[in-house]
Amino acid sequence: MSIFYEDDRKRIHKIVASPYANNCYIIVCKTTNSSAIIDAPIEYEKIIRECEGTDVEHILITHNHFDHLEGFKELRNKFNKASIGVGKTDEDKLPENNATINLFTKDEHITIGTLQVTAIITPGHTPGSTCYLLDKHLFSGDTLFPGGPGRTGSSEDFNQILSSITTKLFNLESDTIVLPGHGETTTIQDSKDEYKIFREQNSNQNLFGDVTWLNST
Ligand SMILES: [Zn+2]
Repeated sequence: MSIFYEDDRKRIHKIVASPYANNCYIIVCKTTNSSAIIDAPIEYEKIIRECEGTDVEHILITHNHFDHLEGFKELRNKFNKASIGVGKTDEDKLPENNATINLFTKDEHITIGTLQVTAIITPGHTPGSTCYLLDKHLFSGDTLFPGGPGRTGSSEDFNQILSSITTKLFNLESDTIVLPGHGETTTIQDSKDEYKIFREQNSNQNLFGDVTWLNST
C-alpha cells in the first residue's frame, strides 16, 4: 500500500498515475473502513488494488480535465455503490452516469465513515474546480501547487483562481498541507508567503497561463 499519511482515525493513500503524473488520493476512515477516491486518472487497476479491503463510498473529482478522469468509468463500474462528487459546472465531461451524484454549487460536507470532508468550490482553473478538505489536509486538484496556482486560460480566469485561493484557501489553518493533482505538497503558510512576494513584485494586470508566485513578471 502507498500510505502517505496515517493517524488514529484515518489513512491517506497516494498513487501517482502516468503519463501525466496525476496524483490520485484515497481517504480511509479507520473506524469503519469506509473510503473515498479523489480523482480518477488512467491507472484505475492500481487504484482499485489500493482500495482493497475498504468500502468505497465516494468518488470525488477535483475538475473535469481528461487526465483526472481517464479511469473514471472503470472506477465507477467497479465501485457502483459509490456516490460521485463534482463541481456542478464540471459535470459535463464525466462519462454517462447512472450513479448517485452530488453536484456541488456551494461548499458542503461529505461524510466518509466518521470523517468529514468539506468540498470547497474554487473556480478558475476550470469553472467547477473543487478542493476537498479533510482536517489539516487539502486536496487541491489543479487549483494550488507548490510555487503557484494552476494553469489558467485567460486573465479573467487568472483573477478568478487568485480570488478562490486568497479568499477561500488562504483562510484555512496555516499548517494545512496542500496535496495537489500533480507533484509534491506545499502548505497554506508557504503559499501565503510566496503569494505576498508575488503581490509586491507584480503589477501586470493581464497575467494568465502557467504563472508562478516567484518568477512571473
Ligand atoms: Zn487540470
